[in-house]
Amino acid sequence: MAHREGLGVSPDTDGHPTVVVEQGRFCFARCGCGWRGPARRARSQARTDGAGHTGSVSG
Ligand SMILES: [Zn+2]
Repeated sequence: MAHREGLGVSPDTDGHPTVVVEQGRFCFARCGCGWRGPARRARSQARTDGAGHTGSVSG
């Protein structure tokens, strides 16, 4: 089993690695599957969007 450290992909994302992208004064969550969250003014809110996305996708 090779470790995948450095890719920034957590095992629990299961193919949905979400990142927070800053765009001007706004942030939004983006996923490797192509999903994109709504623009947020708070970075923490964008992360919550991403967490909700990975949580809603199971299988
Ligand atoms: Zn996804």
